[in-house]
Amino acid sequence: MSSQASLLPAFFDGHNDTLLRLHLADSDVEPFFSGRRGHLDLPKARAGGFGGGFFAVFVPNPSDEDLLDLVDDKGSKGAVGKPAKLPWSRDNAPYSPPVDAETAVRIATEVMDLAERLVSVGKGRIVWMKDSSDLDQAERAFRSMPHDIDAVRLVLHFEGAEPIRSDLSNLEHWYSRGLRSLGLVWSRRNDFAAGVPFRYPSTPDHFDGLTAAGKDLVRACDELGILLDLAHLNERGFWDVSRTSTKPLVVTHAGALSVCPSSRNLTDDQIRAIGDSDGVVGVNLHCGDLRTDGRLNSDTPLEVVIQHIETMVGLAGPRHVALGSDFDGALMPRCLSDASKLPTLLSGLKDRGWKDDALAAFAYGNWLRALRAAWEG
Ligand SMILES: [Zn+2]
Repeated sequence: MSSQASLLPAFFDGHNDTLLRLHLADSDVEPFFSGRRGHLDLPKARAGGFGGGFFAVFVPNPSDEDLLDLVDDKGSKGAVGKPAKLPWSRDNAPYSPPVDAETAVRIATEVMDLAERLVSVGKGRIVWMKDSSDLDQAERAFRSMPHDIDAVRLVLHFEGAEPIRSDLSNLEHWYSRGLRSLGLVWSRRNDFAAGVPFRYPSTPDHFDGLTAAGKDLVRACDELGILLDLAHLNERGFWDVSRTSTKPLVVTHAGALSVCPSSRNLTDDQIRAIGDSDGVVGVNLHCGDLRTDGRLNSDTPLEVVIQHIETMVGLAGPRHVALGSDFDGALMPRCLSDASKLPTLLSGLKDRGWKDDALAAFAYGNWLRALRAAWEG
C-alpha cells in the first residue's frame, strides 16, 4: 500500500453479494481468506481498506441466471462465475417472477450457515456485527486505523424479504440468527412490496405501493431494530415507507436518476427525503446505473462515480451519502474493479477538495450512524 493510501480512511460499504458467490461456488469459505476471483476477499479488503459492510443474502430465481453472470457489452467479464453469456438487454429484460417461499427459506438458511462458517473459520478476521457494543468497537477501530483494517465487519442483510413469511411469524427467528438489515425487495414483487423492473431510460415509478403486510413489516423492523433498506423499491413503496417508518430512510445501493435515468436510481426528491430524515444512500458502482447512456460498459471513468456522489451530496448533504459498491453482484468500472482499488475513489474525492472529515463520513461514519439509529430505539 502506498504511504498516501495509508492516510486515507477505511471503508464501510452498503452492499455486496459475496456470500451469494461463495454459496454458488459450493459454499467453500476458504477462498475468501486466501483470495478468489471476484471483487471481494480478505487480501483485497486489506489492500483496499475495506473494513466491513452489508453482506447480502439473496435468493436468485432460476430464470435470473443471466443476471448473476454480468458481462459488459464489449464481452469482457465484470463479475465472477460461469462462462460469459450474452448480456441481457436492460430495455426489455422481463420482470422477474416471484420466488416461492419454501425455496427462499431454504436458500436463506444455507447462506446464513455459510456466513456463520465464514466467521468461525475467520477466527477474528471476520466480525459479525449485531448490537451497539459492536458499533462502539467499530467506531473506535475505524477512527484509529486509518485504512489498515483489523478485521472485516459483517452486517447480515437480506436483499429481498422473500425468506420472511407474510404473517411475519419467522422474523424473530431470522433476527436471532443475526439478521440486522432488510431490503424489502429485489427487482421483483413479493408479499410486501414491488421492486422496480430493469428499465432504461426510465424512473422508479412502476406499480403500486406497499401491501398491508409490507406496512406491518416496516413497523416490525422499526420495533425489533432491523435496518430497512429501500434499494430497488418502487417509488410509491418508497413514499409509503417514509410515511410508515419512524426511522431514517436508507437506500444501501443506488445512483442519481438525474445523472443516469435507470429505473433503479433515485429521483432528486427521494435523495432529499433521505437527507431530511437523517438517512443514508450508498452510491452503487454498477456501470449500467452509473453511465448516462446506461450501457454495460466497464470502461466507465472515475469522474462518473464522483458525479453521482457529488450530485447526491448536493441534494442530501455530506452526512447522508456513502458507498454501496455492489461488489460481486454488478459490473464495476475498470478503475474500481475490486475492493483493493477503493483508495482510488478516496484520492479522487481528495483531488476534488474533499476534507478529511467529509471523507471519513463518506467512507464509514455515515453508515455506522445509520446502523445505530436503526438498531437503537
Ligand atoms: Zn441490488
